Amino acid sequence: MHLLLGFASKFMKTNLKTRAVHAGESPDPTTGASSPNLVMSSTFLADPEASFSAEGSHDDDSFFYTRWGNPTVAQLEQKLAALEETEAAMAFASGMAAVTGLFFHCLRPGDHLILADVVYAAVSEMAGDWLKGIGVEISRVDTSDLESIRGAIRENTKLIYIETPCNPILRLTDIAAVASLAKSAGARLAVDSTFATPIATQPAKLGADFVVHSLTKYIGGHGDAIGGSIAGPADDIAEIRKKVGIRMGSIISPFNAWLILRGMATLPIRMQAHESAAKEVANFLENHSAISRVIYPGLESHPQHELAKSQMANFSGILTFQTPHHAVLPKIFSEKLQIVHYAVSLGHHRSLIFYIPTDEILSTSFSLTESQEENYRNFAGDAVFRLSVGIEDAADICEDLDRALSGVT
Ligand SMILES: *Cc1c(COP(=O)(O)O)cnc(C)c1O
Repeated sequence: MHLLLGFASKFMKTNLKTRAVHAGESPDPTTGASSPNLVMSSTFLADPEASFSAEGSHDDDSFFYTRWGNPTVAQLEQKLAALEETEAAMAFASGMAAVTGLFFHCLRPGDHLILADVVYAAVSEMAGDWLKGIGVEISRVDTSDLESIRGAIRENTKLIYIETPCNPILRLTDIAAVASLAKSAGARLAVDSTFATPIATQPAKLGADFVVHSLTKYIGGHGDAIGGSIAGPADDIAEIRKKVGIRMGSIISPFNAWLILRGMATLPIRMQAHESAAKEVANFLENHSAISRVIYPGLESHPQHELAKSQMANFSGILTFQTPHHAVLPKIFSEKLQIVHYAVSLGHHRSLIFYIPTDEILSTSFSLTESQEENYRNFAGDAVFRLSVGIEDAADICEDLDRALSGVT
């Protein structure tokens, strides 16, 4: 539906920073407007030959109805594909809509899914409930351990789904190694790369079939629009658009697409700022008397720092910390912090912090084996505070945290 298709490829030879600004976009042919138009129209003047059914639709048809495709959304999708270096991408109403759509596309009753034991909580809950309910076989596997993945592969394994760094413990998975396991098993590999962003890691270049994002986080970057995406091969994306976009209807609003498109232009420079502030805050916390442990892929103390260095061109802006005073701190943080907001979500220009007690998340969201629980605790202790370091001045963030922490030291 994409009269605009082709703009992404025009910029494919340029570097990431240039693609973040220009890919997918083009001056409006009628008005000459330099910035992308926000096209809110739900319907478009139709070709008299056009079919009412999605069955006869093709990706290069003209725009027809916004659930099929929309000029503003198409620009966002092309920019996403250009940054992930995949053939195509599709945007969704939320990150969860993208994940659900991917499962719907890849899995049928009787198929087998290898799902990382620690993934975004709602993904874990949805798999255990809905996917299990329709007869998909699921193995929960610590995907940082390649032997566990190898041991879980079955004849009917259709999809391996990982998150790296994973939410909330920031454990990493070696994408290239898992991609080769998936290939030899004839399964597809999907990577939720929300924490890494294409600035740190481009999973498709490492052999992944699908790259999933919550656009709500770094890619939009400003905490004002919810969205999600799948990037991958054009044939799959066309199928997903038909089944999940046109028929399931989990499409993104053009207004949200426009906000996220606007945010994406600064993704490369925001990620530099996030990483640089996060390094400073991580060092500050690692040396703070109230803090017992900090986990950040950019710290030498991260158990997989070597993998982080080889797989991530940017360590991103999320860290976790542990403290013996954890139980009293949510209240203190919510009352005393002035710069850092005590709130969920991450990847915004604003710093955000949230408390994740281990017993609670293990019982509500994950049903893990004893050794998997032990591995979770190796990264999370009794509880973590997940801190998404924003792009404020790092010294101000540290001072804000120090002031709040003085309540317990
Ligand atoms: C937030 C998040 C999601 C879900 O995205 P929404 O846009 O909130 O639906 C999925 N995966 C990860 C890693 C996330 O952080």
